[in-house]
Amino acid sequence: MIDLHCHSYFSDGLLSPLALVEKAYHSGIKILALTDHDTVDGIENLLKIQHGFPITLIKGIELSASWKKYDIHVLGLNLDISSPDLNHLITEQNEHRVARSLAIAEKMAALGVEQALEKAYLIAGHKRISRPHFAQVLVNEGKAKDIQTAFKRFLIRGKPAYVHKTWVSLEKAISVVKQASGMAVLAHPLKYALTRTKLHELIAEFKYHGGEGLEVISGEMTPEGIQELAGLCQRFDFFASTGSDYHGQGLSRISLGGQQQLPLNCRPIWHQWTL
Ligand code: AMP
Ligand code: MN
Ligand code: MN
Ligand code: MN
Repeated sequence: MIDLHCHSYFSDGLLSPLALVEKAYHSGIKILALTDHDTVDGIENLLKIQHGFPITLIKGIELSASWKKYDIHVLGLNLDISSPDLNHLITEQNEHRVARSLAIAEKMAALGVEQALEKAYLIAGHKRISRPHFAQVLVNEGKAKDIQTAFKRFLIRGKPAYVHKTWVSLEKAISVVKQASGMAVLAHPLKYALTRTKLHELIAEFKYHGGEGLEVISGEMTPEGIQELAGLCQRFDFFASTGSDYHGQGLSRISLGGQQQLPLNCRPIWHQWTL
């Protein structure tokens, strides 16, 4: 079993990197990529611990990128995390994140939630906070019954606590991953609610700028979704990636390594790596 997409508490996941590796071991996962949002701190943490489990750990990241008016996620897999370009980008993205979280907290104050920033910091345990941390604050304050509802009512585009932020461009995100000797994979292509024309345009641009993979399996999938992405993978000549996008119990419906199998007509991206 292979899982090339998951999150630790160094971004918006619930588990420590070590707990993720332990869980991966007990789930029979042989290759695991840790792909926290815009940070590799979890990987540095894990390298310090020398976990000792017989699992190949792939150094990854999930970069937030901007393409037209959309937020697109780019996975960087099998990275050299000492790359100066990568670390420079991570610093910039963190600055965007901090600026956005101040603006979100202001909007939440207007909704009657005081000190949302401090509360979100406490939940996250760090300052690179994401919307799920604000969603948890909204739940704790009784403004929403669960995280999903908090997103739907407050945190998605057009809702009162949504703040638009321009992240790194798609082109730059791909080039930084390549500079860091990694492979760029377009994460969960069906989760951006794009029309088919727009989705094909995104995929073509992703390819043009040097992207190498499509995440054909990402968390919960329908058979139609899998078939469509496997077809696009072949048509645009991409390698295929697979991941659970696991964030933790209660946050993710699919557990670590619990996603469906890649169809046989896909070329697995990990076959390109010397492991
Ligand atoms: P951010 O990077 O701060 O914009 O937060 C994005 C994260 O929020 C994603 O990686 C998901 O973990 C989570 N997320 C995004 N949309 C939703 C949603 N509609 N419901 C629940 N979680 C979501
Ligand atoms: Mn997330
Ligand atoms: Mn994502
Ligand atoms: Mn993710």
